[in-house]
Amino acid sequence: MPGFRAHIIGSSVVGAGYGAAAWYLGGMPPSTAALGAGLCAVSGMLPDLDSGPGVPLRESVAFAAAVTPMLMISRFQEWGLPLEAMILAGAAIYLAVRFGLSWLVENHSKHRGMLHSVPAAAIAGQITFLAFASSEPLHRYYISGAVVVGYLTHLVLDEIWAVRQGLFGPKVKKSFGTALKFIGPELWPNLAAYALVIVLGAFSAGDAHWGERFAAMRQHMHHAAHYQQYYPQPTHPAAAQPTYQPVYQQPQQQSWQFRR
Ligand SMILES: [Zn+2]
Repeated sequence: MPGFRAHIIGSSVVGAGYGAAAWYLGGMPPSTAALGAGLCAVSGMLPDLDSGPGVPLRESVAFAAAVTPMLMISRFQEWGLPLEAMILAGAAIYLAVRFGLSWLVENHSKHRGMLHSVPAAAIAGQITFLAFASSEPLHRYYISGAVVVGYLTHLVLDEIWAVRQGLFGPKVKKSFGTALKFIGPELWPNLAAYALVIVLGAFSAGDAHWGERFAAMRQHMHHAAHYQQYYPQPTHPAAAQPTYQPVYQQPQQQSWQFRR
């Protein structure tokens, strides 16, 4: 099993590549690319939440507790929360993740259970997608993709470590196949994982739909405002004309005054 350090190095390297690719090839703003790279790096710690009390659990939970409220800033703004309420909500989320998540993981998970699985990676990505309500749909997909990539990097590293180069070719350890899996050996964790994937997927799809419609509407309003700025129309009812001609085709700017 690769240690904490190997996982951090692995997911950081992959995260750096992910961020650089988004910046160079995808034209992503540098700050968004850097956030994706960082989230990919720390998501490489998440699956080992189930390895019992220790550095990975403490560090991952503390980090997730601190980062989640910050990812949700745009969500708070969307809800129209005043600053004080944002701070309170951030503190409440911090406490819930810090203590609720560690309680859940310590009491209801076992090592190499469903936290080491592909559906768990999807759940991590879906939660990020719902928390990070950026007004740019592409940024949302990129940021939640970063968490999934980091998570999967961990699972792939676990599997690579399970194959050791022996004297007569590669040897497969007993743990092979327990990290990058779709289904675990137990019924209830499987059901819980897939139920979560479906519920969070439905929420994410609904939210993506609204987010993208809203983005299109905003763009429309931006264009309308732009048009207004360059072709100002009289807005007073008495001044309004029953014409849709652009201003530049009208003979004079104040012609409506003479027609009255
Ligand atoms: Zn692991």
